[in-house]
Amino acid sequence: MRILVVEDEPRIAADIRAGLERAHYAVDHAEDGESAWFRAGTEEYDAIVLDLGLPKLDGLTVLKRLRAADITTPILILTARDGWRDKVEGIDAGADDYLAKPFQMEELLARLRAIIRRAAGQSSAILRAGPVEVDTRTRMVTVHGSAMTLSSLEYRLLAYFLHHPGRVLSQSELIEHVYEAGSDRDVNAIEALVARLRRKLGVDLIETRRGHGYLIPDSTR
Ligand code: CA
Repeated sequence: MRILVVEDEPRIAADIRAGLERAHYAVDHAEDGESAWFRAGTEEYDAIVLDLGLPKLDGLTVLKRLRAADITTPILILTARDGWRDKVEGIDAGADDYLAKPFQMEELLARLRAIIRRAAGQSSAILRAGPVEVDTRTRMVTVHGSAMTLSSLEYRLLAYFLHHPGRVLSQSELIEHVYEAGSDRDVNAIEALVARLRRKLGVDLIETRRGHGYLIPDSTR
């Protein structure tokens, strides 16, 4: 799962990045509206955290442009505490949720989980496929009831799979959602990562669709 953080205040941006990385997300950062618009238009994100007061292009304009371009990525806007007009305008412009500054990181994480879940059509914070269960609140992973430890990358990949069961996910899609922009990302790396995750889980969960990608079956249907 990869998040774009759009925030011009370095300290807040660094705090958000640290909180998201602790929660195993890949994080890209844009510090003004122009680069946010460019990034969000050319890369795939699972969610965008968008400050409204930004240099070059304000957040509300970025939001409107993205929605006008049919980019449906879930967006959480950051507003001033007394900025009720911003909240109303932001929600009307297509924001999925808002958070007033200053905020607690735990609340940001919970709201992000919720908009990502909603966009994926999932209703529960606990994702299951076969014997594998992931509690997205605590990032606890269990297989047949026993807990296991995954690396950030492995967790990110598993979470992306579990948010999109029953759909063939191509290698290029997985690369977009697992690695940060500018990192060394290629098909070999994602194949190796899938192999590692399979080995760790130790169960037949991730199917290969030769020439197309990977799939985990949707056990709820
Ligand atoms: Ca700002």
